[in-house]
Amino acid sequence: MIAGDLDTAHERLKELIGGAQRVVPFTGAGISTECGIPDFRSPGGLWTRNRPIDFDEFLASQEARDESWRRRFAMDAYFAKAKPGRGHLALASLHRAGKVPAVITQNIDNLHQASGLDANSVVELHGNTTYAVCLDCNRRYELQWVKDRFAAGANCAPGCACGGHIKTATVSFGQAMPPEAMRRAEELTLSCDVFVAIGSSLVVYPAAGFPMLAKQNGATLIIINREPTDLDDIADLVVHHDIGETLAPFISH
Ligand code: NAD
Ligand code: ZN
Repeated sequence: MIAGDLDTAHERLKELIGGAQRVVPFTGAGISTECGIPDFRSPGGLWTRNRPIDFDEFLASQEARDESWRRRFAMDAYFAKAKPGRGHLALASLHRAGKVPAVITQNIDNLHQASGLDANSVVELHGNTTYAVCLDCNRRYELQWVKDRFAAGANCAPGCACGGHIKTATVSFGQAMPPEAMRRAEELTLSCDVFVAIGSSLVVYPAAGFPMLAKQNGATLIIINREPTDLDDIADLVVHHDIGETLAPFISH
């Protein structure tokens, strides 16, 4: 069922979420656009501006690593300033109320944690861009450290003392999905009675397989996204409205 107007959407969401034991949200870039971070696939989104650098390219060439870091520093204008939006705050409220055990996210912006969820309650399928790690020894590096070294080294991406490459803690195209996050996401998906996909075009796999899995397992599937998705047909409730406006009634202080 597609909820036509916002009032109908609010009514249906309150019924479905209110009556659920365990609600598992699955979020994508759309929940963070109101925080000033562009999504990938909307017109003017990041996708249309830069071809992503694959993991193999990053490993193979210093030039690719330099370019990857230059882009990350350019994006800091968005990421460093961003504050949680109404969608993040609503999910944090539902978490505090005991409805939402954890959030599964494709986002890398750290905004669920910034809205008050502890790190354990955010399952990041694509990692986190607000810090960096050595790909060999897994040592953590802060972005400011990388930035300072980059500037000091004539715009050259620094390496780790162990000889490994330092990369934002994100999952690039061609890089393996994090096994523990995938395991937890599957467990959460199979344990919920309501699954809510929020702000994802649902085209990036394997992440987008979770809404399908939830539905097959008997959960009620809700999709909130301003554009249609390929899974709209199998969803129990589809809301094609702005995420902030749709979820604002669930914010409690
Ligand atoms: P996507 O860009 O493919 O899809 C976002 C969807 O959200 C679009 O269908 C768009 O119509 C919808 N949307 C945007 N703003 C909305 C709003 N205010 N209200 C309702 N709907 C809105 O994003 P994706 O499916 O998450 O896939 C992109 C991948 O890129 C992710 O896996 C993620 O790793 C990465 N990414 C992350 C961020 C972030 O962390 N904020 C931003 C861009 C890309
Ligand atoms: Zn190292």
